Amino acid sequence: MKYKYLFGPVPSRRFGRSLGVDLTPYKTCSLNCIFCQLGRSKHTIAERKEYVPPEEIIAELKHWLEHDGKADFITLSGSGEPTLNSGFGDILAFIKDNTDIRSLLMTNGTTLHLPEVRKAAALASVVKISMGAWDQTSFEKLNRPDSDVSFNDLVQGEKDFRNEFAGELRLEVFVVDGVNAAPADMKKIVTFVKEIGPDKVQLNTAVRPAAEADAVAVGSEKMNELALLFEPPAEVIASFKKVTIEGSDVDAVRILDILRRRPCTAKQMADVLGAHINEISKYLPELLTAGSVQREQRGGEVFFVAT
Ligand code: SF4
Repeated sequence: MKYKYLFGPVPSRRFGRSLGVDLTPYKTCSLNCIFCQLGRSKHTIAERKEYVPPEEIIAELKHWLEHDGKADFITLSGSGEPTLNSGFGDILAFIKDNTDIRSLLMTNGTTLHLPEVRKAAALASVVKISMGAWDQTSFEKLNRPDSDVSFNDLVQGEKDFRNEFAGELRLEVFVVDGVNAAPADMKKIVTFVKEIGPDKVQLNTAVRPAAEADAVAVGSEKMNELALLFEPPAEVIASFKKVTIEGSDVDAVRILDILRRRPCTAKQMADVLGAHINEISKYLPELLTAGSVQREQRGGEVFFVAT
């Protein structure tokens, strides 16, 4: 069966084999982060509604559990912010009641100031929140939020959620050179992180193709130095390592093959290969590092070109 909302399982260094669940149409997000691997948003969206009917996702999950059902995690992430789908709690409740596989919610945290979102999110086994700003100005520079989203609400929502959530909470701090990689700025982020009190802090950087060409990755040496500012030190999770996705029809050779014929965005490659954009994005760092591919900004979008 070809699934509409499920993808993978894809390998993840932190979460093993992870089955992805896409809860929104492409790039439905309250933020427009400069480092987003989905590309630049045409517009941001803060409204919560049933973008995709939860019962259709649950029907696919039922089928997958009956016919495959092997993964370490079922992850709510995909093509936008999963908590904008007002039915995301139904999906988490279904996973909790029907399988021993743990659920992972990956969120940008912008809806956690709402009590109903915190209640639904608390059904996940693990919640991972991405952050990278320390005030409204840095938030606007790095994450370019919707006008209905404020930094103060974001931080308060994350603190309230920590107080209510007994599961594992991870904070992923996304670092971009020239934006939030100065130690003095990172120390301000450390202060917020302490106030929130996650179980784990992870540092990531733009090793995957980003929405903006100037969202530049920070080198591993500097990442390790920044990690030491946290107590205990943060884990650096950015990786340039080669990936292999077992059982996937996508690989670096097929991507290169397409790019030799014409330059494409990551989304266009995903459409051609019938894959999820997250699968394509796992291979692009390897091709960029090897110099087989380069990125070019064209008409406001990032295209990849075979060299
Ligand atoms: S990185 Fe995540 S939170 Fe930021 S714009 Fe992309 S999908 Fe939204």
